[in-house]
Amino acid sequence: MIESTIQKKLSILSAVNRLHHDIGAHLGLEETSNRVVDILREITHCDACAIILIDGENVEILAERGFTTTLINLRFTTDMSAIKHIIETKEILFTNDLEKDAFLASCIPEGCSLQSLVCAPILVKEEVKGIIHVDSREKNAFDEDDLELVQLLAEETSLILERSLLYEQVKALTLRDALTGTFNRRKLEEDLESEIARSKRYLRPLSILMIDIDWFKHYNDYHGHQKGDEVLRKVASLLVHNMRSIDRVYRYGGEEFVVMLPETDKQEAMACAERLREKVEREPFEGEKESQPNGRLTISIGVASFPLDADAKEKLIEAADFALYRAKAIGRNRVCIY
Ligand code: GH3
Ligand code: MG
Ligand code: MG
Repeated sequence: MIESTIQKKLSILSAVNRLHHDIGAHLGLEETSNRVVDILREITHCDACAIILIDGENVEILAERGFTTTLINLRFTTDMSAIKHIIETKEILFTNDLEKDAFLASCIPEGCSLQSLVCAPILVKEEVKGIIHVDSREKNAFDEDDLELVQLLAEETSLILERSLLYEQVKALTLRDALTGTFNRRKLEEDLESEIARSKRYLRPLSILMIDIDWFKHYNDYHGHQKGDEVLRKVASLLVHNMRSIDRVYRYGGEEFVVMLPETDKQEAMACAERLREKVEREPFEGEKESQPNGRLTISIGVASFPLDADAKEKLIEAADFALYRAKAIGRNRVCIY
């Protein structure tokens, strides 16, 4: 360790003090969360950290630093054992050697090589409303001061969380669609904005796929809305599991999804769309023979690319929608480019 204990204690006090002052001056929940993860990165020896919001069944990452794409795309739920445990016990989870902690080791998603971990509850009125997560690939990464820091930050975040919950700002921060767990339309708008800016800056391509389930009304009318919802979940899951980790899936509307493909030109996007179309066509869906006009549940896809087809996000979506419309018009279960 480079810094002496006293110096570390001073940095902790000063960071928390600054944060406390700024929260008083009406710092929002999103800004606060970002500040908290920055402080954690600065003071502790963590590889990754995050602020997780728990709003009923909904679990959302408010801010993170250092997470792998696997973790970002992972859907966090209140059923995950670590989260469940914290909600029930309201206690901090901590280990400096994961191999020696069978329970925590079982909580770690596959493919994560963590050794040290701190997960502290953020309590609002005695209820767990969030979690501060800090991890490291090294053993013995965290000391007493780190634990104290995490606890102080949890208290600070709790203040702002309480205020936000009061004003229902939390609702607006929801980024996921409740039915399918994919990102929602609001998040698509945000991401497209930033990805297009990025593509402009680095002169890189960006493509989107607009996906619509074919004859879905038939399916619903025949099997009922609930079975229809199951199909939506299954299609969403097929999309999520058959793309690269930098791609993202959004539920755009009822039975429409958008897939965003950064760093992908039109040819590559078409190949990707074709692969997804095929996956869904091959996948068996309950009762599809009876209800679907061609005996199979299928999707149609419209492909559009930046900068080739559009120079702004609205136009890019319009172009993909237009291509999708064509795919429908010429027979469905196919991919069309703009
Ligand atoms: P097309 O091939 O032209 O897309 O035909 P379609 O029947 O899929 O198109 P249409 O737009 O007429 O119908 C979409 C249907 O999707 C209407 C509704 O029954 C269904 N739908 C939309 N949202 C949901 C949802 O959240 N759950 C369920 N179960 N069904 C939904
Ligand atoms: Mg539709
Ligand atoms: Mg449809």
